[in-house]
Amino acid sequence: MPRTKFIAGNWKMFTTAQSGRELAAAVVKGCAGWSRVRVAVCPPFPYLNVVGEVIRGTPVALGAQNVYPADEGAFTGEVSPAMLKDVGCRYVIVGHSERRHILGETDPLISSKVQVALTSGLDVILCVGETIFQRKSGQTEAVLDTQLTGGLRGVKGDQAERLTIAYEPVWAIGTGVNATPDQAQESHLFIRRRCADLLGPEIAANLTIQYGGSVKPENAASIMAQPDVDGALVGGASLKADSFLAIVRAAMA
Ligand code: PEP
Repeated sequence: MPRTKFIAGNWKMFTTAQSGRELAAAVVKGCAGWSRVRVAVCPPFPYLNVVGEVIRGTPVALGAQNVYPADEGAFTGEVSPAMLKDVGCRYVIVGHSERRHILGETDPLISSKVQVALTSGLDVILCVGETIFQRKSGQTEAVLDTQLTGGLRGVKGDQAERLTIAYEPVWAIGTGVNATPDQAQESHLFIRRRCADLLGPEIAANLTIQYGGSVKPENAASIMAQPDVDGALVGGASLKADSFLAIVRAAMA
């Protein structure tokens, strides 16, 4: 069975209540009648409710950009998986490179987020990817291996069905420089093989692996045409309905 492509928009720390509402409404309108691609939008925490109301009952799903690995407690400023479920989230992004490199998130923390989110019934998009220094010094596969082994520690086979991996080379995020289709395919194939070791061959064969890093309407089709690329995690281009919808359309090709 071919894997269904999955396009998710990571709005990062952008939008307002009003612009988020309008963007979500435009995405819903543009996706009407399309069922061959999974689509999600991931607004900032304060707008999850607002955007959730706009997309409720539509094929566009709601995702969050982060989560804390506990159900509740004295964790000032944090948000639990139960809260994300409560406001209608299906997905949560974990281990985004901006959280790894700016906020200092480590693989053990990321792995606890992955486990708690999956156990709570959220679908996880786990981001992995190397820096330009790591790529140039031939460490790409070692870095992916460490992040996958660390991030997926403790994940059980039945939970892994709700897992997506996003391969996001750090040097391609927000830079306008995307990985070439060959570079993306090479890393995606490595990730799928490594996930076969970690989670089992059947889970790995069905695993959705998104590419993320300066995906635009102009490069989306060629990257997603690669056999192990199952969609995209889109940052900048998800903030405009036209460009996001063009990427969704490219996923249907
Ligand atoms: C991202 O934030 O996950 C991302 C891939 O950003 P951009 O598309 O802007 O590179």
